[in-house]
Amino acid sequence: MIETFTGTTEGPDAAALRERARLCFDLDVDICIVGAGLAGLTVALEASRMGASVAVLEGRHVGWNASGHQLGTVMPGFGLPIGELIERIGFEDTKELWDLSKEGAAYVRANAMEEHIPGIALSEGALEVSNVDVGDQLISRLQMLSEDFETEVEGWQIDRVRSELRTDRYFHGVYYPKAFQIDGRKYVHGLAAMARRAGARIFEDTPVVSIDPSGIRKRIVTPSARLRASHIVLAGNVHLGAPLRRLSETLLPVWRYAGVTAPLGERLAEIVAFRGSVSDTDGIDHFRIVDGDRLMWASPETTWSANPKRFAGAIARRMRTIFPKLGPVEITETFGGAVGTTVHGMPQIGQLRKGLWVASGFGRHGLNTSAMAGQLVARSILWGDERWRLFSPFELVWAGGPVGRVAGIFVGLWNRGSSAANGALARHRERVRIQDRIREARLAEANQKAAARPAVQRRQPPGRPRPGRPQPRPVQQAQPVPQAEPVAEVQPAQMEPQAHEDPQARQQPAVPAAHGEREGT
Ligand SMILES: Cc1cc2nc3c(=O)[nH]c(=O)nc-3n(C[C@H](O)[C@H](O)[C@H](O)COP(=O)(O)OP(=O)(O)OC[C@H]3O[C@@H](n4cnc5c(N)ncnc54)[C@H](O)[C@@H]3O)c2cc1C
Repeated sequence: MIETFTGTTEGPDAAALRERARLCFDLDVDICIVGAGLAGLTVALEASRMGASVAVLEGRHVGWNASGHQLGTVMPGFGLPIGELIERIGFEDTKELWDLSKEGAAYVRANAMEEHIPGIALSEGALEVSNVDVGDQLISRLQMLSEDFETEVEGWQIDRVRSELRTDRYFHGVYYPKAFQIDGRKYVHGLAAMARRAGARIFEDTPVVSIDPSGIRKRIVTPSARLRASHIVLAGNVHLGAPLRRLSETLLPVWRYAGVTAPLGERLAEIVAFRGSVSDTDGIDHFRIVDGDRLMWASPETTWSANPKRFAGAIARRMRTIFPKLGPVEITETFGGAVGTTVHGMPQIGQLRKGLWVASGFGRHGLNTSAMAGQLVARSILWGDERWRLFSPFELVWAGGPVGRVAGIFVGLWNRGSSAANGALARHRERVRIQDRIREARLAEANQKAAARPAVQRRQPPGRPRPGRPQPRPVQQAQPVPQAEPVAEVQPAQMEPQAHEDPQARQQPAVPAAHGEREGT
């Protein structure tokens, strides 16, 4: 079994690791980026293309964490459902943010070309399926996405979903023909290569241990070198640690695990005809076919770091829960990484103080959003683009530290539990509806036969009232089941404090962490 475990094993890019260069000399640059994940590398690529001198400092190696261990699905939007975004910041700003998220996806598509990144294997289309029967909600969402947010979407009826995915677990679906998937691991390494070609210098094995963001030229300290830069971009996700610990504490780390089956042959195509990515609206399962007949599946999550290998059995069981007809599956590869989830469900993008930037908290929806953040931050620094301020309503909120992690476990369990309960209820209702239909059909048939019999046979015994002709009962409609949405509370805390003000001074005390916002991954 090939196993990729962020933090302990090297994974398949070991050759690249041996070549990694640690920074061993002092350096002066325009922009110093902390973290070589998707976010840091996108800032590096864009800023270098615009002519800035850029150094990326990576504590481990390129794509070490989530960025090198994801499923590669690229969709518009954010972790926070669009309806909630509108409620929080209004329609106009939501529209602008949504457009930015689409630009992020377009940016990934433009990079993910075979000529830039060989073997990137881009394929089209993603399907979001509902675990409950909520046709009405789906129609209003489709209208909103296509009319108000100019996003190409198709609504799929239950039959269509189930002809593509042979399971009674899923009901309606929203198909995004313009969404796509790529080889996620190749993408992050391709991004690093493109950034290097554009002039960025990437130093691996170079953890940043402290920063001094005061003054025009900011100081960055690593174990073997010191840097000075006009701008620092913190793109370290949940592992940022010492340089700005209180920033890391605004993220709840959630380790997400995935597995890939051995080739399944013909039986897979019989059960999963859909060739794009599939995710459910509760953000629990996310899967797609890779290499023609293997199933890649992300599902289990923890709020502590664990060896992904441990979850091979759970992933296989999950596959068979959703697709019982799949039969036994062997998981031959497992991987995982920590995603940073914010209390409000939106990424952290912006300027903390003059020249100190953050691009983090992308959750499970990180490909388009980190691309968007990279572009926004680079353009802000070099062109004065102020659109990052659209993220200001989503302030830095403490995620609760260890207590938040414990709370996160229960919120996660509760979400999964209530999603399973809602799903079971929806399937039960569906069974009742089917039984009702069968009963009605039998009744109608009996009535027809009775009507066809000679009148004498239908005569009632004297003195007994003639019963009214039974009316077929209307087909019972399923009541929409309210979806389990976690509570996400936002406490006031300025994103951009006044110059020279300690950004953490305004952060609020403990807020119960919320995780498990519905996301694309
Ligand atoms: C199993 C799984 C499947 C996923 N699938 C999808 C998907 O299909 N589509 C999607 O859009 N998203 C997906 N995601 C989410 C996506 O992978 C993340 O949102 C994204 O990779 C986050 O990127 P990042 O650059 O912020 O963080 P990271 O990838 O964590 O990168 C941060 C880097 O910073 C470095 N660093 C931290 N602190 C320091 C320091 N002090 N000094 C030096 N370096 C430091 C770390 O070593 C790390 O390499 C998935 C995630 C997982 C785990």
